[in-house]
Amino acid sequence: MAKRVLTIVGARPQFIKAAVVSHEIAKRDDIEEELVHTGQHFDPSMSQTFFDELSIPEPVMNLGISGGSHAQMTARMLEALESVMVERRPDCVLLFGDTNSTLAGALSAAKLHIPLVHVEAGARTRCMENPEEINRLCADHVSTLLLACTQDSLLNLQQEGLGERSSFVGDPMYDAFVEYSRVARRPRLLNLESGEPVALPASYLYLTCHREENTADPETLLNILCTLNELASRVVYPVHPRNRDNALSVKKDAGLDNILLTEPVGYLESLFLVDHADAIVTDSGGLQREAFFAEKKCVTLLDFEVWPETMVDGRNVLAKPERSSIMDALSVQQSINVAYKPFGDGHAAVKIVDAIMSL
Ligand code: UDP
Repeated sequence: MAKRVLTIVGARPQFIKAAVVSHEIAKRDDIEEELVHTGQHFDPSMSQTFFDELSIPEPVMNLGISGGSHAQMTARMLEALESVMVERRPDCVLLFGDTNSTLAGALSAAKLHIPLVHVEAGARTRCMENPEEINRLCADHVSTLLLACTQDSLLNLQQEGLGERSSFVGDPMYDAFVEYSRVARRPRLLNLESGEPVALPASYLYLTCHREENTADPETLLNILCTLNELASRVVYPVHPRNRDNALSVKKDAGLDNILLTEPVGYLESLFLVDHADAIVTDSGGLQREAFFAEKKCVTLLDFEVWPETMVDGRNVLAKPERSSIMDALSVQQSINVAYKPFGDGHAAVKIVDAIMSL
């Protein structure tokens, strides 16, 4: 009998990682997958676009759970996912990353004693104010099989006493980057303010900024946008729906002619933006890695490192949301050692499915 895997996804970066693993599962006869979408990201530009572009199998159900506080969202998911798992009786549950969907999936499966596989295990910021850190720690400590993207992540797991259940497989984001960069697509940008199409500038910084740390207080976002408006002739900023009203009002109040607010772009378009940008400024874990894969300079608007592997040779530099810190970080020259490939060989999905089969 084929092994039955229940994969739980809910947020944009999880769709990308799940896509490459789903494709690998589809090639094999001895394993079957059912996908459950928690609904955490529901806006078509944050969800359906990714299913279409990346040919991700249709979820068997969408729980439609989003919004509210962290506790509210996680609690609703926990209850719903328990029912799903009891009904579908999978041989194992597969989780990616560090979102509330990951946490709820991990707790539901662990309490039902269903073997649990966590991909992207062992990433650590060591900052408990970072909401995703709590999700990572909890998911890792209740998982049966911990699959690390990098040797650094594996070391973190070993240091936490989880080494026996852990292995290094590489990063499925890198698999996706290798596969889809070839078909990256020039974005059809939609101006968020006017709703009208707008051309991609020839030269620009690619900004994504939506973490609570940078957006909960509008002053913080204002500082970031004012600084970038001054430093770059154009800044392309696809805005996460959660941060839409905030970004629109900051821009309206402060002018900021060089900042182009747009609707979120698709994954193939985001890869194009990375590839053609002068530099990336972001608070996204995924985009930091994509900048690294594309050998683009990155400035990360956070207090902590999530992917220390990228923070070498000036390639990715932390900055506070302050003028001098962002200016300093952008002015650090990067040098690139092409032999340095901490995120694996682009075949993480094969190793992930092999590891699931070994359970
Ligand atoms: N991304 C995208 N469209 C956008 C902005 C980002 O497709 O408008 C992609 C980006 O290339 C990366 C992923 O979304 O692959 C990162 O997702 P996000 O920042 O939401 O999550 P994180 O990586 O921080 O967990």
